[in-house]
Amino acid sequence: MRTRWYIYLRWFILSAIVVPGIVSLYVGYGWSAQLQDSLKLGLIAFGTNAVFFALSRMVKSKTVVRALITTIFVIDIAMITFFIYTKGGIESRSVIVYVVPIIMSAAIFSRKGVYGSALLSVLAYDVLILCNYFGVFASRGSLYPDLQIDSSYVINTIIFFNALLILISVAVDFIARLLMSNEQLATRRLNELMRAQSIAKFGSWEWKKVADVLVWSDELYEIFGIEKTSVPITFERYLECIHPDDKKLVIDEIHKASLTGMSFAFDHRIVLANGTVRYISSNGQSYSDKNGEITHLTGTARDITDSKLLEHAKNDFVAVTSHQLRTPATIVKQYTTMLSEGYAGEVTTQQKDFLKTIYDSNERQITIINDLLNIARIDSGNFNMNVQRTDLIAMLKQIRIEHSGKYKSKNQRLLFKPKYQKVYCNVDGDQIKMAIENLLDNAHKYTPAKKAVKIELKRKRKGVLISISDEGIGIPSKDIHKIFDMFSRIDNPSVLQEEGTGIGLYWAKKIITVHGGTIDVVSEHKHGTTFTIGLPYKIAK
Ligand code: ADP
Repeated sequence: MRTRWYIYLRWFILSAIVVPGIVSLYVGYGWSAQLQDSLKLGLIAFGTNAVFFALSRMVKSKTVVRALITTIFVIDIAMITFFIYTKGGIESRSVIVYVVPIIMSAAIFSRKGVYGSALLSVLAYDVLILCNYFGVFASRGSLYPDLQIDSSYVINTIIFFNALLILISVAVDFIARLLMSNEQLATRRLNELMRAQSIAKFGSWEWKKVADVLVWSDELYEIFGIEKTSVPITFERYLECIHPDDKKLVIDEIHKASLTGMSFAFDHRIVLANGTVRYISSNGQSYSDKNGEITHLTGTARDITDSKLLEHAKNDFVAVTSHQLRTPATIVKQYTTMLSEGYAGEVTTQQKDFLKTIYDSNERQITIINDLLNIARIDSGNFNMNVQRTDLIAMLKQIRIEHSGKYKSKNQRLLFKPKYQKVYCNVDGDQIKMAIENLLDNAHKYTPAKKAVKIELKRKRKGVLISISDEGIGIPSKDIHKIFDMFSRIDNPSVLQEEGTGIGLYWAKKIITVHGGTIDVVSEHKHGTTFTIGLPYKIAK
């Protein structure tokens, strides 16, 4: 490749310097001997470049290419020397042109090339000057022929230019080595990154939006099962690999990121050419130019097929076992009720107390089983939502009435002062009610007596915000990130003295997320907590 650059550079030098030089000679001095020399040189240079250009395209063998480029250097140094000869030898400033093959050979051959070219240039120049000095021939165009034979001037010039060319070679070699070591370091780092990507099964990508070019890492080609070619991937081609059911999600997420400049993270499926489905976790970020226009997006894609399949197996297990457990638990409930109602004979007060304890524990058991079943259904995607136009004000009023008894028993106040008459949202009313009740149960459990819990509803442009604020024990900031995780309970005596499973918030978040909503928490340890649910007026299709 670099061989070609040199040939292109020669084209440039020939057309931008040599041709105008020859023309100006003709305009200035007419059909002179100097013009004829320059013309000959120009023609040789053009001719050799055309031949080398053609050869460099045909030849594949590295050795032949090296031999070819070495020949070009030798010819160039010879031509430069001849040029110096025609321009007056020792007086010619053209000696500096030797720097061109020296620099270029550094790029092509590194150290050997630099010093080889430098040595050849020094030798050619010295031989030219010494031939003049000893009268073998006289340089053409020399304005001061006496200088060519002035021994002290000749020695000084030789020493000066030899030293100058060698100094330049050392500098060029040093810079070339520095650049090369940086290049090697970059290549090594890139290889390490590629290896890491291959081990972790993740690929990286960059989408140049304007040109619609996707640059993929090797591992990404591997994950998508596409053979890497010199033609870059386009966004359209990428979309072809996405599972038909996930296409809309992918387009929406990327569209959103490229409009807002925000980062994104979502999971989706791809379908390989042989029909295999793989699960991918995509993360990315968009970047804009100084006018705020999004110019490119970058990100990573990780093959999470194994963990997804494991998760599906886990969900199936939870669904099946909770289903199996529900039937016997319900039977226990029925028989306990029958016993305590005296169907199997008279029950003493103590037996009634015992039966009440059995009944309460069994109730809790059934609630947990139902929670687990609900979670398994959402996780497995077998969750059918019954979405209806629902008045949230009416729902919250109802919830307040239903929960006020429990709150009163702990001497707490449950406040809800709606600002609106009615606020409609398209939601699964039963599920959203259960999610809100979950938050109210927590607020009740984790707030001391005589304190208040406040429900608020605010209308926003695209949806509503429902907040539940308590004056309770709060959540330490170090633990706040894990409260939405499954089975997560804060390790704290005031939490552990309350009954709980650590499922409620996990489930509530799932329900709200399937509605396209959000749930956020702000808490001050020992002072109180506010959960805020964001719900869209309509669930996006
Ligand atoms: P649990 O059944 O333990 O209440 P949740 O999933 O509903 O499970 O809540 C998880 C944990 O989050 C709780 O164990 C508790 O530590 C913390 N938490 C939830 N709500 C509150 C609240 N209002 N105030 C303080 N801590 C809370």
